[in-house]
Amino acid sequence: MKVVRAAVVGAGAMGSGIACVLSQCGIEVLLKDVEQTAVDRGLGNIKRMYDSRVKKGLNSQEEADKLFGLVKGTTSYDDFKNVDLVIEAAFEEISVKLDIFKTLDAICPKKAILATNTSALSVSEIAAATSRPDKVLGMHFFNPAQFMKLVEVIPGVHTAEETVKTAMDLCREMQKTPVKVEECPGFLVNRVLFTYMNEALYVLQEGTATIEEIDAKAVEHGLPMGPFALFDMTGIDVCAHVTQFLYEQYGERFAPSPLLAKMVKAKQLGQKTGAGFFMHDKGVPAKGEAKVVNAKVTELVAEANKEKALPKAEKFDGLRIILPMLNEAIYCLQEGVVDVKDIDLAMANGCGFKKGLVELADSKGLAFCLDELKAYSKVDAERFRPSWLLSKLVAAKMTKLSDFGKKPAPVC
Ligand code: NAD
Repeated sequence: MKVVRAAVVGAGAMGSGIACVLSQCGIEVLLKDVEQTAVDRGLGNIKRMYDSRVKKGLNSQEEADKLFGLVKGTTSYDDFKNVDLVIEAAFEEISVKLDIFKTLDAICPKKAILATNTSALSVSEIAAATSRPDKVLGMHFFNPAQFMKLVEVIPGVHTAEETVKTAMDLCREMQKTPVKVEECPGFLVNRVLFTYMNEALYVLQEGTATIEEIDAKAVEHGLPMGPFALFDMTGIDVCAHVTQFLYEQYGERFAPSPLLAKMVKAKQLGQKTGAGFFMHDKGVPAKGEAKVVNAKVTELVAEANKEKALPKAEKFDGLRIILPMLNEAIYCLQEGVVDVKDIDLAMANGCGFKKGLVELADSKGLAFCLDELKAYSKVDAERFRPSWLLSKLVAAKMTKLSDFGKKPAPVC
């Protein structure tokens, strides 16, 4: 199905970005929110996105005006009767999403696809609120939606292949990079990335390396910024919430570092409060100067260690925070969540990871990765427990992860 008319429910940060990219490919978009002020804010955001495209020479003023004209703000569902697809980007609360999907199901044409941009809720549960679970799926955009290329396309239990195809085609039309991810908590990118974020906290709490050393090693390994810079940018409370959710879903492998709760309790939440792992006060750091570490973190590390003393590891070589990501990606392969060819694509386009986990495993060799994980399991047996698929591949003498799933040509 070709999407000609779409709607976005929720005109916040994500909804306005999604509405903007839909309109950029000539699709008429209804942007719906509960209050007119929220709709106007969303439209204002989109207008600014188009102004910036004109400034960068990506659109002429005339084109930008025409494309912006395709977005119509609304507080009612009246015009939803002839949409082909809806993307919901309202609050991340299951009751809110279930209500919205019940309403959409009653109003939208039977052929319309209903997508949710949820970061963590169950796509299948949301689909079950409708009479068309075959036409419901997750389309997980990354923030800021107008720039980030990745969209995780997540079928629920009953989603039809045709629905997935329409969503994938639409993503490509929007110049995005869609990756099909089977439904699991955290989907692919957040599930993998949070093992690294959490491990960085453990390294810091132990005193094995400093904030600056850990961030620098992450960048050396191909991440666009270190874990602590990312914590501060995302909001440490938001990260704590995601880590807790993953811990509840997957168990000890995601056990949150005690330091995380201490940072939240002390309201050192990152950029939004002026201080997280780094200082973000006005004028700090001065232009051109290095980032300034928040001195309070030392106090909070000591407090966290009183709660659970962590022995200092012998060394920090960066691999310690990268390997848990690789291991988690292999858990995803083990569960059939993703194709091996899509792992690096998703990590590159979802979080700017330049080197790639599969590339890393291929270059180091799977046996090396397994041995390293086993060596690190002295630090913590659960967080570094190798996935059984990795052990199986090594036992089978497979050296490259990219060969996973490839069958040798039959011998006649
Ligand atoms: P936001 O708070 O900026 O915007 C949410 C908007 O939804 C608000 O304007 C609110 O008024 C509106 N809304 C709430 N209930 C509604 C209803 N019943 N009908 C219509 N509109 C309603 O939130 P956001 O950051 O844009 O996130 C939206 C969704 O996208 C969430 O599910 C979130 O988990 C997901 N998401 C967020 C990010 C991110 O980094 N912000 C990334 C990926 C996915």
